[in-house]
Amino acid sequence: MAGWNPWHGCHKKSEGCANCYVYRIDAKHGRDSSVVQRTAEFDLPVRRGRDGNYKIAPGELVWTCFSSDFLVEDADIWRSEAWDMIRERRDLEFLFLTKRPERIAQCVPSDWGEGWPNVTIGCTVENQKRAQERMPVFLEAPVRRKILCCEPLLGPVDLSRWLGPWIDRLIAGGESGEQARVCDYSWILSLRAQCNRAGVGFYFKQTGANFCKDGKLYRIRRKDQHTQALRAGINTVE
Ligand code: SF4
Repeated sequence: MAGWNPWHGCHKKSEGCANCYVYRIDAKHGRDSSVVQRTAEFDLPVRRGRDGNYKIAPGELVWTCFSSDFLVEDADIWRSEAWDMIRERRDLEFLFLTKRPERIAQCVPSDWGEGWPNVTIGCTVENQKRAQERMPVFLEAPVRRKILCCEPLLGPVDLSRWLGPWIDRLIAGGESGEQARVCDYSWILSLRAQCNRAGVGFYFKQTGANFCKDGKLYRIRRKDQHTQALRAGINTVE
């Protein structure tokens, strides 16, 4: 697994952004996260080592643009170069999440077709309001492999009218950090049941810092949030 952040910084888009970790980390270093900048690792996917081989080995999953949103407007001037690198590295699998699925169609390259097989796009759906807004748009978006990210999950969400084979998997989880909002286990179980009925893979990634189960609130340390979620034993995909 590799990481690639071609640009850094973003603009808050919806409720899930309230405690954005990019803003949280930047604040500690006095950096303004609303200024979107190309990073020093912009060309990482096509960088080669002294032996002439790519630094990112073939076959890797590349977590892309986790210090921004790949589709943020400010990055329109750099995105075609990023697509060129993704096109060159068809031997890698790129995955990015977005809260801007309405921009997919206008941001993809001209030879995109129904989507490149080496690109997975995940749409974030943190509450029912954003489900109503984003799911119909994401359903129609030209993407070959789509996933859903219900993280941070901020309330009960009913996705049943949209779920189906067009979604590869749904990832759910709570929120981290000092100001983390509560995630209720019943919301997680509801999403899992909806996925099971629709034949969609389900993955409970992490509990978040403030986790409520059977009416009892638990404060979970960052290092335990993933393992506690795994311990629930409710995942249907790895
Ligand atoms: S879209 Fe993502 S990166 Fe941008 S502000 Fe929201 S949470 Fe942060």
